Amino acid sequence: MISLTINEKDIRMPEGATVLEAAQALEIEVPTLCHDPQLKPYGGCRLCIVEIKDFPRPVTACTTPATDGMEVTTESDRLYRLRRTIVELLLSDHPNDCMVCARAGDCTLQELAYFYKLRENRFIGERRHYDMTDKNPFIKREMEKCILCGKCVRVCDEIQGVNAIDIAYRGFNAKVCPPYEKDLDCEFCGQCIVVCPTGALSGVIWGGQGRQMDVKLTDTVCPYCGCGCNITLHSVRDKVIRVTSPKDSINQGWLCVKGRFGYEFINQKDRLQTPLIRRRKGGKLEPATWDEALNLVMSRFEKIKKEHGPDALAGLASARCTNEENYAFQKFFRAVIGTNNVDHCARY
Ligand code: SF4
Ligand code: SF4
Ligand code: SF4
Repeated sequence: MISLTINEKDIRMPEGATVLEAAQALEIEVPTLCHDPQLKPYGGCRLCIVEIKDFPRPVTACTTPATDGMEVTTESDRLYRLRRTIVELLLSDHPNDCMVCARAGDCTLQELAYFYKLRENRFIGERRHYDMTDKNPFIKREMEKCILCGKCVRVCDEIQGVNAIDIAYRGFNAKVCPPYEKDLDCEFCGQCIVVCPTGALSGVIWGGQGRQMDVKLTDTVCPYCGCGCNITLHSVRDKVIRVTSPKDSINQGWLCVKGRFGYEFINQKDRLQTPLIRRRKGGKLEPATWDEALNLVMSRFEKIKKEHGPDALAGLASARCTNEENYAFQKFFRAVIGTNNVDHCARY
């Protein structure tokens, strides 16, 4: 363990911890745009600069290892001015269309502009203009809003292992894109949207659906597979408009394309909402209560078992159920029905 002070507060940290981790352990807020605790340190945005005694100039807290006896300062007039200028430079080339941006209220850059009171900008110059031609069905990419923090590139590589995007070109022309600037063609997990601190990445189907302040959040579990990822439904006037996942969940906030984007069926008016029973041979399927449906299944099971024995019945379980549900299902067939005829689709 090592000991250091941050803003004159003592903290002990394990060897290898960064100055930023030490500050966070003391619940000292240090602004960042490119840092994510689930990704490797990057030091790209320079916002987390801190002053360290005997260091000639401020250094980035996210990439500087904490050492024994270090004396760190995270707040000073000089640091405030430097950080404010960094945000101002980022905004000098930013569309500032927060009024219609799908990420308004969910944008770190917007929060920082508010914090540093950046109404005017001293740096007026050339601006980037890109054709918005990406026709992929899930991820809206507005690269004029990109601040090149590299988080999307890193999450796609370090977490998803897909490497679908990278930073191409250099200098003012640098931009995040798929190979040869083609349309994005990847797993569409949406992890890049989750980590993006600006409105550069958003969901195609979110557009114009509702503002953050109107959203009601409901925690639930993804219905698509037995992994049981935790999800949060964002709804406006009883319509689900977006799905996210909490960072502190079993799936650490990561989802697959089904969990993140496959929610539109919830809002369909013609989806089944009750069991259906065919009450007479050749008749139409009609809505029924769960008691009616389950009693019918039970009576048919009893009849088949009585007339033909338990092996005349078989159970096929679903990959959409949890492990526990599938365990209960096979137990029911073996112990209650009395047959080993039980199988699992193992896919959809
Ligand atoms: S959606 Fe997933 S796979 Fe596609 S670019 Fe983003 S992180 Fe990579
Ligand atoms: S698209 Fe978003 S996450 Fe990716 S580099 Fe730009 S600002 Fe960062
Ligand atoms: S379908 Fe995807 S998001 Fe849903 S539980 Fe399975 S892995 Fe998680």
